[in-house]
Amino acid sequence: MAQNFDLIVIGAGPGGYVAAIRAAQLGLKVACVEREHLGGICLNWGCLPTKAMLRSSEVFHLMHRAKEFGLSATGIDYDLDAVVKRSRGVAKQLAGGIGHLFKKNKVTTIMGEAKVTAKGKVSVKTDKGTEELTAKNIVLATGARARNLPGLEADGERVWSYKHALVPPHMPKKLLVIGSGAIGIEFASFYNTLGAETTVVEVMDRILPVEDEEISKFAKKQFEKQKMKIMEKAVVKSLDRQKAKVIATIEVGGKAEKHEFDTVISAVGIVGNVEGLGLEELGVKIDRTHVLTDEYCRTGVEGLYAIGDIAGAPWLAHKASHEGVMVAELIAGMHPHPVKPESIAGCTYCHPQVASVGLTEAKAKAAGHDIKVGRFPFIGNGKAIALGEPEGIVKTIFDKKTGELLGAHMIGAEVTELIQGYIIGRQLETTEEDLAHTVFPHPTLSEMMHESVLDADGRAIHF
Ligand SMILES: Cc1cc2nc3c(=O)[nH]c(=O)nc-3n(C[C@H](O)[C@H](O)[C@H](O)COP(=O)(O)OP(=O)(O)OC[C@H]3O[C@@H](n4cnc5c(N)ncnc54)[C@H](O)[C@@H]3O)c2cc1C
Repeated sequence: MAQNFDLIVIGAGPGGYVAAIRAAQLGLKVACVEREHLGGICLNWGCLPTKAMLRSSEVFHLMHRAKEFGLSATGIDYDLDAVVKRSRGVAKQLAGGIGHLFKKNKVTTIMGEAKVTAKGKVSVKTDKGTEELTAKNIVLATGARARNLPGLEADGERVWSYKHALVPPHMPKKLLVIGSGAIGIEFASFYNTLGAETTVVEVMDRILPVEDEEISKFAKKQFEKQKMKIMEKAVVKSLDRQKAKVIATIEVGGKAEKHEFDTVISAVGIVGNVEGLGLEELGVKIDRTHVLTDEYCRTGVEGLYAIGDIAGAPWLAHKASHEGVMVAELIAGMHPHPVKPESIAGCTYCHPQVASVGLTEAKAKAAGHDIKVGRFPFIGNGKAIALGEPEGIVKTIFDKKTGELLGAHMIGAEVTELIQGYIIGRQLETTEEDLAHTVFPHPTLSEMMHESVLDADGRAIHF
């Protein structure tokens, strides 16, 4: 006989597990079905293991700078296996934590592959056979996987996806990273810092193409200082895979060039896990590889919702989780606000870090805003100097008439932690005046957030 629940969540990533826990907190009887690992891509193969690896490369980089800080460090080296072991340990610890949270909140965990067989019906293939489940509400949170472009497919040997790059079979000497979004740039930063001669190829006219143009240019300069090679408006046409090397044909300015590498990381985007779920049969609308939903994550099929990566951009864990909470509350009969995509910050944990929220300067202008822009460089901030991190910029964009904070864009040390100040500001519909009157603690990097606001009015103090 089928087990009945109030809610079945398919997928236990940051979208699914958060939706399941929130629904259980609200008194619903919840099952969460997961085919591979609690925590999804984020905890197992995404956000957290990459940050653990990047932390190792950051410490390595700082050790090389020991003398600057009056310290000495000799024989500085790394053990790639140990770096990976630490990263896998972090992933394991965090994924294990989800199991405990499910138990604590009385969420039923079912390990297996789920398929929606009809409205309110889910069939799960487990190790022991097939389990039938029913529920009035089903949340699809099946996430996404790496996009494979024809000819550039990952093979795990010379050409890696993000999964291979997290458990590398060897340390690259000459590395090609295809794609300069957050994932590509984070791996480029990690391997370049550990000594791989790294080239990044980006098809668009600048790296980190979703960021403000000024930030992309600043990032490029910083990466080039670190000896990374950046090729923009360039297309990898083919990869000739040989035993110990790969010859890449790269088209730049209409000319095809051949470059030799020993390793390639393909970071050309992701595709939603929409297959095998029975969605076509149910009449769910799919745009390329993503489920189409309304602002409340409703698919148009009664009682069926889609959240997180399967529901489209931005492909970020915090967007997935926030949608999870919103949908759980909706199902429980509450009246949550829909998630505002324009208030979701993007962070890239390369060196230096990049973080942004809201409109870029170009988008603000294109949207018809008459804008005011403030900028403040890290070199004007006491804490940045004391930390030995004088490279960076904080840029703020305001609507000239209303003073609304339209966007904030940062590059430099710890900006991924700082950005939340502006996110709260935007959530509370803060104006330039409110931010200017706010007292920021000294000495902190956050003072630059204040100075950038003041600069929009030509009244920054320290620069
Ligand atoms: C290398 C890398 C670094 C990243 N870094 C960041 C970062 O720093 N910050 C950030 O915000 N985002 C980051 N992301 C993106 C982030 O990981 C995703 O946005 C997030 O994991 C999406 O959550 P989700 O719940 O939608 O899906 P997922 O985390 O993908 O989880 C979906 C789950 O569903 C399961 N599943 C799929 N189909 C079925 C089925 N039929 N039956 C049962 N289970 C199924 C899968 O096994 C998976 O566990 C990164 C991604 C990568 C690849």
